[in-house]
This record gives sequence, C-alpha cells and structure tokens, in this order.
Amino acid sequence: MQDLTKDILELVRRTSTDLPADVEKKLRESYAQEADGSAAQGALDTILQNVELARKNSTPICQDTGTPLFYVHYPEGMSTRKLKKMITDAVVEATKHNYLRPNSVNAITGKNTGNNSGDEHYPTIHFEEVDEDQPLTIDLMLKGGGCENVGIQYKLPNTNLGAGRDLAGVRKVVLDAVHQAQGKGCAPGVLGVAVGGDRGASYLASKETLLRQIGDENANPELDAMEKQITEEANGMGIGPMGFGGKTTVLDTKIKGLHRLPASYFVSVSYMCWAYRRRKMTVQNGEVIYE
Ligand code: SF4
Repeated sequence: MQDLTKDILELVRRTSTDLPADVEKKLRESYAQEADGSAAQGALDTILQNVELARKNSTPICQDTGTPLFYVHYPEGMSTRKLKKMITDAVVEATKHNYLRPNSVNAITGKNTGNNSGDEHYPTIHFEEVDEDQPLTIDLMLKGGGCENVGIQYKLPNTNLGAGRDLAGVRKVVLDAVHQAQGKGCAPGVLGVAVGGDRGASYLASKETLLRQIGDENANPELDAMEKQITEEANGMGIGPMGFGGKTTVLDTKIKGLHRLPASYFVSVSYMCWAYRRRKMTVQNGEVIYE
C-alpha cells in the first residue's frame, strides 16, 4: 500500500494555513457590504489580512488549530488500520512543523500529549468504504474549540421557544442558537444543521454537512429555501463579525435531514467560525490531487 504520510502532512499544512477560496470570497463580499469605517468592516479587514499572511508564510490561520476531523472514503480492500497509522503519523509530524498547535489533552488529568496524538479518538477519523474502482479521498476539517463550544442540540418540541416538530420549529431553534452564541465562536460563521437521527448521529451529520461549499444548493428544495432564509434572518440580528454589530453574522447555512424514530426529533447545530478550514485530497493511480 502506497505510503501517504507525507501527502497527508501536506493536506494538514494546506488546511491549517490556506483558507479555501469559497470562504475567502464570501468574507470579501461581506467586507464590501459592511459600512465603510465600521467596526464590522475593520474586523473583516483584520481577518482577511491574517488570511493572506498565513498563506504567504505557511503559518496557521488561527492560533487555535482546532480538532483534526478526517473523513476518509477508501476503496474496498484498502487497510483502514494502515490509513489510520499514516494519518496519525502525519498529524504528529504536522505538530512538529507548527502547522498544528499541540491541542490534545487527557480528558481527566488535562495533561497535554504534546503531539496531537491521543487514545482512540484523537485525531478523529471517520471511515467509509467505496467501490474498488473509486479513488481514495481524505477530507480534513480543523474545527476550532471556541466555535465548537457554541454548538448546541435541541429536542423538539421546545415549549420555551414555541418550536414544534416541523421546519418552522427547526428555524426557531437554529436562530436561537445564533442568538445565544452572539459573537462568541468567532462570527461570522457557518451553521451546520442536522434534523433527526439519534443524538450522536445528529451531531455527526451537522459537522459533515460543513464539508459542502459556500453558496452551493441543497438537493432538497425545501431545505435549500430554509438555508437561505436562516442565513438572511441570522444576518438581520445585527450581531456582526466578532459581535461588533453589522450585517455579517453568518456566511452560510447547511441543513441535512436524517431518518429518526417517531419518538425523537433532534436538531443539532454545529457552528463553524470564520476560520472555516477544510481541504480534500484525492489519490488515484498513485497520483495525489489537492482541492
Ligand atoms: S473559534 Fe475559530 S477563529 Fe475563533 S479562536 Fe477558535 S479556531 Fe480561531
């Protein structure tokens, strides 16, 4: 099996230091929409300067390089055990190169492992098998701690918010999540929302949906309309970049539905900060392509 450790290290470097084009474009559009000289425009200007510097110097976009979340689609027959070792080794190497801050601490003692390794769950790797003739793809998302802390899960109905078990109820709780976050979690952010599933599957799906591109369309027209509506309404709250006020609180919203038990109706909101770091590598016939 091809040793991909160095290629995965490069994936980590790109993810940590080079903000994806769709995110940067949206941040630039948001800057143009804010009032000249406003605190919101100033915050976005600082963010954009930082993005340029990080890319130029190959240094992390933010000091919190986040939790590394890997999503691996591997062709039938490939060893997930070997892939896991390559990914873990690449993360340790990336920490030595300062592409990643040593972020992994023991849950009980708080002791830092110093190299971003940890028990079975650090880094986090999700595997899914695809057909033998399909390429290997590895998506990496670096999910900041501040934005992770403002993620939230609701169980509908929610009488306090007047949110029933329907899309109108989903809208109410997602907007409540944005209101509760205020500028915390480093707005402007992107909302990853999952409706349904059990509690665990719902949170997982809310993160996976953040792998979509900013401005793409949801294949479900009803959810697509809801995504646009929530983004617009969240931006109407006036919270603004870093909570300084303004028109840009949320860059985009992504919603996914999961089958659920009739007894349960969960809505999970994963909030992604402006440092929306996600990159993909594809390996086919020995060739590595980065997106
Ligand atoms: S939430 Fe995001 S932008 Fe804010 S400190 Fe964490 S990684 Fe950085």
